[in-house]
Amino acid sequence: MKGYAMLKIGESGWIEKEAPVCGPNDAIVKPLAVAICTSDVHTLWEGAIGERHNMILGHEGCAEVVEVGECVHDFKPGDRVLLPAITPDWNSLEAQAGYSMHSGGMLAGWKFSNFKDGVFAELIHVNDADGNLALMPEGMDVAEACMLSDMVPTGFHASELADVQFGDTCLVIGIGPVGLMAVAGAALRGASRIIAVGTRPNCIEAARGYGATDFISYKNGPIGEQVLAMTDGKGVDKVLIAGGDVDTFKEAVVAVKPGGKIGNVNYLGFGDYIDIPRVEWGVGMGHKEINGGLMPGGRLRMEKLASLVTCGRLDLKPLLSHVFHGWDHLEEALFLMRDKPADLIKPVVVI
Ligand code: NDP
Ligand code: ZN
Repeated sequence: MKGYAMLKIGESGWIEKEAPVCGPNDAIVKPLAVAICTSDVHTLWEGAIGERHNMILGHEGCAEVVEVGECVHDFKPGDRVLLPAITPDWNSLEAQAGYSMHSGGMLAGWKFSNFKDGVFAELIHVNDADGNLALMPEGMDVAEACMLSDMVPTGFHASELADVQFGDTCLVIGIGPVGLMAVAGAALRGASRIIAVGTRPNCIEAARGYGATDFISYKNGPIGEQVLAMTDGKGVDKVLIAGGDVDTFKEAVVAVKPGGKIGNVNYLGFGDYIDIPRVEWGVGMGHKEINGGLMPGGRLRMEKLASLVTCGRLDLKPLLSHVFHGWDHLEEALFLMRDKPADLIKPVVVI
């Protein structure tokens, strides 16, 4: 089969590989559409997960089932399915402890384009199929379905990590596709004022549509100071981080009220340490909680998130800035994600 692979750090291309083998609990699926993620860019060009040779890239997509193992009960060939980016081993001790995304070790629930071949391939292997796949709702657009792999679950996880409650004033740092879903998640969980940080005009427009009420630019000075100036020096109840770098935590701590919570889903690619400002962290006693997490996977969560789309509570169309048709456009879509032109939110390739 063909797949689009990372040949080594900084180099990619189409390769031929053996088709994956279906174990008793597994499924083999063929993609209907795939999406490119900022994480693919980190993996390929920044060496975020270290060196990989001939590893097929991609972890966002939806698919049709081709084959299932003898122990798979709930899926059969021909089913159209949602594919989560994170595919844990559900019988692991970490999953039993409630942290399936770390099954087998920290972050090891992320398998596609990390420990095994990803979804930019003619055929994809899915472990623990009954636990990891979800049926695609009838009539769902395949490009929209790809947003349920990672963008929706990751952005929404930021609102879970920050524990957004009714009436909370929230700051969302970063309004790329992940941050946009963080805005949407915060709004659905009942946030009142939502201050969004970003500069790309189409992202600002989309963020407004998802519920952002105020905007600031990280290019106009420290975020924390800007937020304090906008909130009579009080700060916000919750901070959701979906952009920036290690220095962003300082801004989040400055911006959040005592008793507030910070939820990070941003990938930190550089720097050895995160600085927590001593005084603004209440000299160690400010009750300013910092959480960071990888999105949870799993069928139940995928089905629930998909139901938000089918019930009309979540519109994924504004994320789909660039929709291509055919594998021939995959490389173009990937390079677009690397170059991030101003009008880009998310590139998707419908197969
Ligand atoms: P984008 O690059 O599309 O968006 C990043 C956002 O951050 C933009 O709004 C950008 O603003 C803003 N930004 C850039 N620099 C700064 C800064 N210094 N301070 C504050 N904001 C800044 O990324 P994605 O939305 O695709 O992904 C966001 C992050 O989430 C990535 O790091 C990705 O790897 C990670 N991720 C994490 C996952 C998880 O499970 N935890 C899963 C998937 C992705 P501007 O408008 O100017 O571009
Ligand atoms: Zn992703």
